[in-house]
Amino acid sequence: MKRARFDVIVIGGGHAGCEAAAAAARVGARTMLLTQKRATIGAMSCNPAIGGLAKGTLVREVDALDGLMGRVADVAGIQFRVLNRSKGPAVRGPRAQQDRARYKAAMQAALADQANLEIREGTVEDLALRTSRGGRSCVRGVALADGTALAAPRVVLTTGTFLRGLIHIGETRFPAGRLDDAPVTGLARTLERLGFRLGRLKTGTPPRLDGRTIDWTSLDAQEGDRPPEPFSFLTASIDRPQVRCHVTATGDASHVLIRRNLTRSPMYSGAIASPGPRYCPSIEDKVVRFADRPSHRIFLEPEGLDDHTVYPNGISTALPEDVQKALVATIPGLEQAAILRPGYAIEYDHVDPRELDPALEATRIAGLHLAGQINGTTGYEEAAAQGIVAGINAARAAAGSGPFTLDRADAYIGVLIDDLITQGVSEPYRMFSSRAEYRLRLRPDNADRRLTGRGVAAGVVGSQRARRFAAKNDALERARRLVESLGADPETLRHRGLPADRNGRRRTAGELLSHPGIDLRALTALWPVLATFEPGVARALEIDAHYRSYMARQDADIAALRRDEALRLPVDLRFEAVGGLSHEMRQRLAAARPATLGAAGRLPGITPAALTALLAHVRNGETEAA
Ligand code: FAD
Repeated sequence: MKRARFDVIVIGGGHAGCEAAAAAARVGARTMLLTQKRATIGAMSCNPAIGGLAKGTLVREVDALDGLMGRVADVAGIQFRVLNRSKGPAVRGPRAQQDRARYKAAMQAALADQANLEIREGTVEDLALRTSRGGRSCVRGVALADGTALAAPRVVLTTGTFLRGLIHIGETRFPAGRLDDAPVTGLARTLERLGFRLGRLKTGTPPRLDGRTIDWTSLDAQEGDRPPEPFSFLTASIDRPQVRCHVTATGDASHVLIRRNLTRSPMYSGAIASPGPRYCPSIEDKVVRFADRPSHRIFLEPEGLDDHTVYPNGISTALPEDVQKALVATIPGLEQAAILRPGYAIEYDHVDPRELDPALEATRIAGLHLAGQINGTTGYEEAAAQGIVAGINAARAAAGSGPFTLDRADAYIGVLIDDLITQGVSEPYRMFSSRAEYRLRLRPDNADRRLTGRGVAAGVVGSQRARRFAAKNDALERARRLVESLGADPETLRHRGLPADRNGRRRTAGELLSHPGIDLRALTALWPVLATFEPGVARALEIDAHYRSYMARQDADIAALRRDEALRLPVDLRFEAVGGLSHEMRQRLAAARPATLGAAGRLPGITPAALTALLAHVRNGETEAA
């Protein structure tokens, strides 16, 4: 193997790989992105949309760390909508329909502009390893299918659905990483040989339709937000023309047809046994699992401004092509619709993410990081979120710097990684707001304030964003001081129709803002200066004030979490020697090997009493060792 010309090699040009490679390069590592086909870098395998509930927060967090996904989605977005807009800011989900071709092109352009990053086509067949002086296996490079060997002390593996990928369309099946892409078997064998615990999962996609053959006149239209709200904290406004989506639904005829042909679907014929995403079921699954529902909604989403392809969101299927055709014809507006590409299901290998530490490094092989669908997740945003963390860590480790990790109170990214590495997966893992305990804090609007400073310290945030962030922080601090310095007595407040203190106390503008229904506009008659804040600062002030009373309570919970997280469990802890634990708990702990007391507490079935026993055992061990 040649001397390392690179500090970090990233394998795979999907959503995890793009973020990992760009992040490693931003940190300053000499980075190589190796992928099967240069032209498919940034390809969206399934729906042409970025964001959504919880996923939109992940995109904002990736952006706050100066990642690419938010900026690229702003360039290629053709319909922006903030989901749950009528609800509180903590549960809103920015989402944008994407022009598929433009997204890919914008991602490729962003990578081409990135200093320290080289891109090369090639399929990685194997990993090259060495044994450290301490006897640990360490990665030292990769071997390509064409015989080339490339050396690097850090490798990030982001192979998506490609490991032993197998596509199913009705009774037909064939190996593939995605439709029109070759599967990868060499690396799957490598991981097996190295002893990684592998599992098998499945996902699926709907047929694509020709928009010119759809009867749009009979369908309800759905507009995007006006004005569109960008993802990125760096994007001032969205200039691209925006499109409408349309809505239709399956009906009785569709369901009868599906039931009649169930045995021809690989999910029901027994051809596919691997679990799929429960919350993103195929239309076959919906009809079986929700048998009493008379119809299922379908959003018809255009795939681009210069593209007639339409993505029928809601009818992912692996039924045979003839049944797909008949099914589409039962749906209002689609009676004459032509199918451009059939829907299909794909099964693939994934690695048990409990093999990873919080820096997404494999505990089994030093220097090997894994990110994206290979870790059992599903979704572009989940992949990007892991990719950026893996890339930062690979680059920092190559430079001899400490790990960059996020916990459950820092970010949805922290929740995602903690769930993966402590709980593992039994089905494709997707992010939901309900997974986050501290969601009032982990909002899409404040992702920059939670993470950009951390990113600057980790060396992953460029100077432009760092400057903009510092200026916003200063402006926010000045605005905060101002609203706390402005006050009025009860009489003045009553006169203006504002809530006055019953005990005759003066109230500050800051206190008034935390009252439901009171925003800066309501206070400007009294204090005209409040109308002068820049919109981002005004929004941050209002939302912070809205959550003021809840935050104090949540901060106490976060302090308790961090106390438990601070107590690290020894890597060689023998759980069978811990008194007071049931056999089942010992087995569970030994399998998961949680890194901290907090992570042990999040394992299913581990009780508070078990944690006390664990704590006592570790403390005793420390005393004996001292
Ligand atoms: P990918 O985007 O799959 O990228 C993997 C990359 O690695 C590719 O560039 C590939 O060429 C490269 N690669 C692989 N092996 C090698 C190798 N040995 N050498 C070099 N390069 C290699 N998500 C949802 O949220 N909802 C859905 O409904 C949904 N449906 C899906 C349906 C289908 C059919 C597919 C394929 C995916 C679906 N997804 C869905 C998942 C979504 O596409 C993925 O979660 C996301 O793309 C994962 O990103 P990734 O970067 O991990 O992998």
